[in-house]
Amino acid sequence: MSTIGINQIVVVQEYFVSLDEFNCHPILCTQGDLVEIILQLLVFAEGLSKRAYWLRQKTDPLSMSAYMAKVLYNDGTGTKPSPLANWEHLQQELVGAEQAQDIFAVFQEQSLEVAQSTIMKAGLPPHQGCSWLVEPYLSQEKPIKFSGTDIAGRHGGENHAGSMVDALAHFSYIHSMQSLVLVDLPGIPQVNTHPGLPGNVPIVLFNVQTHTQEGSSGLGDQGQAGIDNFLVQHECVALCVQLQLNTLMDM
Ligand SMILES: [Zn+2]
Repeated sequence: MSTIGINQIVVVQEYFVSLDEFNCHPILCTQGDLVEIILQLLVFAEGLSKRAYWLRQKTDPLSMSAYMAKVLYNDGTGTKPSPLANWEHLQQELVGAEQAQDIFAVFQEQSLEVAQSTIMKAGLPPHQGCSWLVEPYLSQEKPIKFSGTDIAGRHGGENHAGSMVDALAHFSYIHSMQSLVLVDLPGIPQVNTHPGLPGNVPIVLFNVQTHTQEGSSGLGDQGQAGIDNFLVQHECVALCVQLQLNTLMDM
């Protein structure tokens, strides 16, 4: 089968999440009108619960900028979720990604960036109802795993990027009034610039997960137990001390 043969043109509506500035409640918003995208129906990456496909903007055929379109294929029970269950799960992930953006905007670390995510949902047959979490595809390099779902990062001062990410995780806990912590933080060195991301940022974090007090951020959210686990495992780095996060630690 040729590569061209597995490219599908899909008409989608794009969605993003905005956080209410008063109570931080997430609001799902549409972005623009229906657009055509090119989806390559060949799995190029697969995790325990999600698969990723290539996606390109049809209006921008000469651009080399590709995106990853992720879909849930295993809901944790071993069964394939319905399009509706997938849509609901992706919304939970998008809320987590937006919360990470919100925290990161205050953290303001120049050597890190958090990839912006959206959801695209097919608006016409034959794909109607299918949805994908869309993130920029940054490079072929293997992601750097700074922390895991239940393993907090422990980077010494000699690992600059690693210790920045450790401090960001601690900062997320303090900034969110102890209601969540950013975990499972993979980052990728930015080799090529990508629209929407500053070109001079060396490490871009993506696929950010959270443990929340209510356990409301979807698959992998271990709730308060996950937050407690982070607090036990985290060791403050120099930036934590500089930001006085260590004096605010509630342990
Ligand atoms: Zn710390």
